[in-house]
Amino acid sequence: MACTVVVGGQWGDEGKGKITDILAEQADLVVRYQGGSNAGHTVVVGGEEFKLHLIPSGILHPDCTCLMAGGTVIDPLVLRDEIEGLKARGVSCDNLRVSYTAHVVMPYHKRIEELAEQARGRGGIGTTLRGIGPAYTDKAARMPRPVRFRDLTDAHRLRELITGQLEHKNIIIEHQYGQPPLTVDEVFQQVWPAAQEVSSYATDGHRLVQDSLRARKRIVFEGAQGTFLDLDCGTYPFVTSSHPVAGGACLGTGIGPTAIDEVIMVTKAYTTRVGAGVLPTEDEGDAGQLLRDHGHEYGTTTGRPRRCGWLDGVVARTAAMLNGATSIAVTKLDVLDSLATIPVCVGYEIDGVMLDIVPSWPEDLEKVKPVYEELAGWQQPLGDMRKWDQLPSQAQAYVERIAELAGVPVSIVSVGQGREQTMLLG
Ligand code: GDP
Repeated sequence: MACTVVVGGQWGDEGKGKITDILAEQADLVVRYQGGSNAGHTVVVGGEEFKLHLIPSGILHPDCTCLMAGGTVIDPLVLRDEIEGLKARGVSCDNLRVSYTAHVVMPYHKRIEELAEQARGRGGIGTTLRGIGPAYTDKAARMPRPVRFRDLTDAHRLRELITGQLEHKNIIIEHQYGQPPLTVDEVFQQVWPAAQEVSSYATDGHRLVQDSLRARKRIVFEGAQGTFLDLDCGTYPFVTSSHPVAGGACLGTGIGPTAIDEVIMVTKAYTTRVGAGVLPTEDEGDAGQLLRDHGHEYGTTTGRPRRCGWLDGVVARTAAMLNGATSIAVTKLDVLDSLATIPVCVGYEIDGVMLDIVPSWPEDLEKVKPVYEELAGWQQPLGDMRKWDQLPSQAQAYVERIAELAGVPVSIVSVGQGREQTMLLG
């Protein structure tokens, strides 16, 4: 495991936090490579639950350095609260670093996102309203120069950048949405106290990663969201504004693709999605509700009920290719414990033609009819099982079918939230 990427193979919430935490035990550095506080990674240690939004899921290992890389966007208020929350629970954040180049989510990003979603009404993207999209938009726009993490170390510079931004943002707030403008003072006053606390974590992220590579340290790159929420590879426009796919681990972190040794694709044993957009295997009836209840499928960040459905083998196969996955971590297998039979989507039918990969045009994906195969359930609790050989044959067959459909072997099986409820396969 010299350099491993952990990536979500579906629409997010696959359990990447848990898998990253497991791998972090052997790692020197965990790098969160994209997204912002719209993510919610849950890690359970000794029955204690930690919900991480920005901070990498390696933070619970005291010897592991954790970096939020240049591809992330950081809300300093959320970061400050998260650090304080962890410290209050005895977790040290001394090994936390944030790349100078990470862009900063500012109060005007949240305000504009809120106004834009209100204006879109029912046709909205269903964003988490954390200002993530507008922050990435400003990053791509480049001018007026947005605030980046290192700018938080300098009050004068921060005020100057806010002034430049508000000249543009207030035109939108006042003239497009008819709302009162924001003042430089109010924005500065909201951000500066948090900036003073978090800016000490600023570092040259590229250098940290490159020095670690040269010293042959073990690095885990942690993705947020999932493959089909990727800005380019996902079900556009109902996607996130960054690059969760494994290739995203090379953007803004300081490495190139050839440095990556392993890509572990985290795949839930069924399918969920938050917000709008196509979900071919969704079950809006009792079965979907059962998965939601047994899997506690309510968002970590927003509390929103997640849409639920059966495992989609076409999604697994396509995601394995989009990410160059070398293996799969199957999570939440235990959620299926009570089922007598389990439908698995093995192909899509569209106009009488069978498809075995996800069409890249979302409107085509909306038209597909999933073709299911019924696998036998195991109807017994898996949560106390610790080894592959202990799993009932039906559960083994289910996992093997996922590997077959994806075309990639399974390296990890997870049967509960706890660290100990994890099987690392040969
Ligand atoms: P992430 O964003 O991909 O890290 O996923 P989330 O943290 O949003 O959601 C995954 C949820 O499932 C968390 O509450 C995890 O603690 C939990 N979880 C992870 N693996 C398992 C598992 O194997 N079984 C069960 N029952 N829960 C799990």
